[in-house]
Amino acid sequence: MATNITWHAGLTHAERSELTGTKGLTIWLTGLSASGKSTIATALEQYLLSKHVPAYRLDGDNIRFGLNKDLGFSEAARNENIRRIAEVAKLFADSTTVAITSFISPYRADRDTARKLHESANLPFIEVYIDVPVEVAEQRDPKGLYKKARAGEIKEFTGISAPYEEPEHAELHIRTDKISVEEAVIVIADYLKEKSLVSI
Ligand code: ADP
Repeated sequence: MATNITWHAGLTHAERSELTGTKGLTIWLTGLSASGKSTIATALEQYLLSKHVPAYRLDGDNIRFGLNKDLGFSEAARNENIRRIAEVAKLFADSTTVAITSFISPYRADRDTARKLHESANLPFIEVYIDVPVEVAEQRDPKGLYKKARAGEIKEFTGISAPYEEPEHAELHIRTDKISVEEAVIVIADYLKEKSLVSI
């Protein structure tokens, strides 16, 4: 742990927000593989950007192959994966961008850590449960991962051989076997508007 670092006082979040004209926050999508997190994150990001609300998606592609490429899938590595994602999302939120994270994040304790990190910095944290019965996720299987998990080629696969701890206090709960991608985006955007987190 570095001890010879100092924190430079700069703009406060409120001052930054006043200058950019937007509020930062994190939208934390959680749910089984193939529940629709990435699909909804991508559509939501496009929707917000089209309304001139700065938004940025953090997902497996830009995190697991970059910042977190040193991490495996042991329990400790998974915890560290989520911790780093939460810290990065917090920085985006602090910069007055809407950070949209799309990771299974199966453990309640990890998601709560991410939430506390934001709350202690006074940044809104919106947990969105992207929910679908595991049978539907398995039928979709866009990346063939369930098939591999069933064949024993992937150990500890969430929903099959590893647990998924359902959120108990998620701000939003979306069933993607019941509503479309477009409807899911509207549900999230309406929530943000209702809470005055975006002005669109
Ligand atoms: P995840 O990021 O949760 O692993 P993906 O978004 O990669 O999931 O994959 C979800 C799959 O389900 C995609 O092929 C998508 O087209 C499909 N799908 C069908 N209906 C929906 C819906 N209502 N919302 C999101 N995805 C859906």
